[in-house]
Amino acid sequence: ERAAALRSYTGPCLMQDGHRVPLRANVGTGEDARRAAAAGAEGVGLLRTEFCFLDRDTEPSREVQVAAYGEVFAAFPGRKVVVRTIDAGADKPLPFLTNADEPNPALGVRGYRTGRTHPGVLERQIEAIAEAAAAHTAEIQVMAPMIATVDEARAFADLVHSHGLTTAGVMIEVPSAALMSQELLGEVEFASIGTNDLTQYTMAADRLLGDLGELSDPWQPAVLKLIREAAMGGALNGASVGVCGEAAADPALAVVLVGMGITSLSMSPRALPAVAAVLRTVDMRLAKRCAGTAFNAPTAAEAREGVRALLPVLDELG
Ligand code: PEP
Ligand code: MG
Repeated sequence: ERAAALRSYTGPCLMQDGHRVPLRANVGTGEDARRAAAAGAEGVGLLRTEFCFLDRDTEPSREVQVAAYGEVFAAFPGRKVVVRTIDAGADKPLPFLTNADEPNPALGVRGYRTGRTHPGVLERQIEAIAEAAAAHTAEIQVMAPMIATVDEARAFADLVHSHGLTTAGVMIEVPSAALMSQELLGEVEFASIGTNDLTQYTMAADRLLGDLGELSDPWQPAVLKLIREAAMGGALNGASVGVCGEAAADPALAVVLVGMGITSLSMSPRALPAVAAVLRTVDMRLAKRCAGTAFNAPTAAEAREGVRALLPVLDELG
């Protein structure tokens, strides 16, 4: 039975006490989205729209964008699809948008910040998202990457709402955003934590440098403290705070995240079966205990080991 559970996933994901955890997929293209739907994802928690810009020297036309987004929306009729506006720069440079000469690209004009130098690109993208949204039944939410301040969140929400889209959100992937989540969620309807960048910026360890492996670890207690802070900011506003970074694909860490108050998880589709299999064996009480254990551990290794000891099901799943 367990082996079967690991091969495939069919939703919804209900914990032992009936608590429901929406499991969504991270996708970049229409083809990804169709594969994610076939793998059982309930929706898209992260559409990395820069994928439809990546091999281009010029901004894609509105028609090209509408078609690309529409292909993804079509794969999830009636379901939630979270569209992230273009996240260029640093590890994803784009010739027409980012400056290759920046001394520290990860700290430079990337993500939402490219709207400072190229406001029209962001505006035209949001127009295209709104047009594609109007032609499909998927429930479209739009979020901005690399938000660092309340001012940015407010300006982004205004831009999204002014295009007739009702639900604006921000990624929490910069430590300042995690610390300010309560205030940010007074401006936008939801947040999603990007643990890849949140870990990079919290630990000051370039995510592209494999040599820094033990620093680039979302189990680092400092990262967990920021995630909990972000989740609490959501709870205080009655707003949902999900996770769409790689951390959501780690079954033990997924339990910790849910125990910290994270309301949905989005991951690579191949991670869905294992994450669901483990979440289905625990209740919120145990998830909170796992979260407390991880949160109070002094090191990443102790956090991992402590949680593993509370979840023997992990050994069964291999
Ligand atoms: C993240 O930073 O965790 C994230 C989900 O975004 P990306 O990996 O695309 O930067
Ligand atoms: Mg990121």
